[in-house]
Amino acid sequence: MTDVRVMHPVGGPMIGVPEVPGSKSQTNRALLCAALAEGTSRLSGVLSADDTQAMLEAVVSLGAEIEADREDTSLEVKGIGGDLRFEDLVIDCRSSGTTSRFLLPVLVAGKGNVTIDGSDQLRSRPFDEQIKALRALGCSLSETRGLGELPIEVVADGVNGAKVEISGSTSSQFVSGLMLAAPLYVGGLTIELTDATVSRPYLDLTVKVMNDFGVAVQQPNESTYVVQQGRYRSADIKIEPDASAASYFFAAAAITQGKVKVDGLHRESCQGDTQFVDVLEKLGAKITWGKNSVEVQGDHLNGGTFDLRDFSDTAQTLASVAAFAESEIEIKGIGFIRSKETDRIAAIVSELTKCGVEVAETSDGVIIKPDKWKLKGASVETYDDHRVAMAMSLLGLRVPHIEIRNPGCVAKTFPDFFSVLEKLRPRAIPLTEAVAVAAIDGPAGSGKSTVAQALAVELNLPHFDTGAMYRAVAVAALRRQVDVTDSAAIAELAEAVDIKINERTVVDGIDATDEIRSAEASHLVSVVAANPDVRRILVPRQRQWATELGGGVMEGRDIGTEVFPDAIFKVFLTADLQVRAQRRFQETTDQTLDEVLQDLQRRDHVDSTREDSPLEVAPGAVIFDTSNMSVEAVVSELADMFRLRVEG
Ligand code: C5P
Repeated sequence: MTDVRVMHPVGGPMIGVPEVPGSKSQTNRALLCAALAEGTSRLSGVLSADDTQAMLEAVVSLGAEIEADREDTSLEVKGIGGDLRFEDLVIDCRSSGTTSRFLLPVLVAGKGNVTIDGSDQLRSRPFDEQIKALRALGCSLSETRGLGELPIEVVADGVNGAKVEISGSTSSQFVSGLMLAAPLYVGGLTIELTDATVSRPYLDLTVKVMNDFGVAVQQPNESTYVVQQGRYRSADIKIEPDASAASYFFAAAAITQGKVKVDGLHRESCQGDTQFVDVLEKLGAKITWGKNSVEVQGDHLNGGTFDLRDFSDTAQTLASVAAFAESEIEIKGIGFIRSKETDRIAAIVSELTKCGVEVAETSDGVIIKPDKWKLKGASVETYDDHRVAMAMSLLGLRVPHIEIRNPGCVAKTFPDFFSVLEKLRPRAIPLTEAVAVAAIDGPAGSGKSTVAQALAVELNLPHFDTGAMYRAVAVAALRRQVDVTDSAAIAELAEAVDIKINERTVVDGIDATDEIRSAEASHLVSVVAANPDVRRILVPRQRQWATELGGGVMEGRDIGTEVFPDAIFKVFLTADLQVRAQRRFQETTDQTLDEVLQDLQRRDHVDSTREDSPLEVAPGAVIFDTSNMSVEAVVSELADMFRLRVEG
């Protein structure tokens, strides 16, 4: 049976200081260097997850002795020091690309027979570039299944290093592996890159970790690395928090208008994925770099084009953020992520599409054209890729009914991901502490009025229909025969008209409850509401209205963006245009379905393109597609979300 995790929208800003586990990349490099070193190394802040467990077990099988503390985050590694010898050893790298690609070049430097293997997923990932390079150095390797794939049998008898050429355009891990093994080769090794390497910062990280363990790497030019024959020395290393893992929490802050700080990451961090923070900054988030921390505060999210060649592990995070951006986001330079744990570009396309996001695949990336009105829940396939699961769960912070299939795949690099994410859920705000407004915005026919009224009843709170105010002005204009396109006259009217909205709507002392819903009034109201002077008069009245009563459920077009941008709970209701037209058609007697549809389209257009307070999804708002739902179901879910905000 498929295991499924249902995500629950947060309905408020995610705030906190998540505990991000150690960097996988630094942990696996340090583990290998410590295992090859002479003496005992101490590693703190290490990642304890499937990928690092793979490396740990592998180096133990090679002779390293490891003692861990209770949480497995501090390790003492007694290195092998001398020669690597093995006899018919089989090393299972599980699904870990780093473990397999770092170990293969190391194993050939030893003596004996060893087979390197892994999960089906790892077996389907490429190794050919590395195999080719090692064969060029005279190593004896044979693939027992498919060419260029695991399992690989090694008959090791040491390596005479010299010069080797390798491409790093599929994976920089091939190059890192050769570099890490180079001191074990007789005469060391000179590595020539034949093309522009992807994920270059990972090569810098390899150089840094080798340095930490006493081995120097020279770089005479951009495409050459020279390592002398030598020995690793034991070292005490503190591993940084994983920057790729941190990207999910930074993104959570960016899309919920929250604030997330990660301790232990900084500007000079050794991980390239910290550059993801710069992308968020360009999109509109506010970034504060501390000496030993970085904080992301979410706001509006613009669009843009971003080359993620150097930090592609955050491409999926960015793709999820893009679903909430104001305009198009192109991610380029990441064609090579098609051969990661899964075809990550295909996964971005298929899973975001399911959630209502328009995504186009390009030769080296994706273009995401967000339309927040169209976001909807879906059952998300994860393809046994931890990063699909973690990135797609971000959509569930703002879109109801997102479920993540087989969420356990996060164990590869971040077993506690979901519980750490949950800890950022906004703190409950006691109803007494604020003017507690639940802001319900959305286009006509999204179910807004019916839902807002029923929600107010369910929560026992006052209900404020701000649309009725604009309609009342339209009615006054009709009654007094004022031309709605005469902005000055309409503004004057808005100032003068007496509007009372309770059970009934009364305009200038005359009941207008039905009149405000007439086709004529509906036709004129958008023009009235697009008049900035009218809004300047009515918006403060709306604020006063709710404030005097201590808050409640307020519906409209700009409640979350303009009237109460600090509302404790913001929702944007949407539904397919056809569904909305049907709903409106059932309420009216004087229009055909087609007329209703055209009128809706016209009003959507006027409301969302007007200069002043256009209808848009408020930053951080829950986006709720009601197309296939009953009013009762929508209200009951919203009531649960609201209660979670005020009661915890
Ligand atoms: O919600 P309802 O359809 O009754 O609103 C009528 C019209 O009033 C909307 O089409 C929109 O043009 C305008 N309106 C607005 N801002 C609000 C509420 C309504 O511009 N907060």
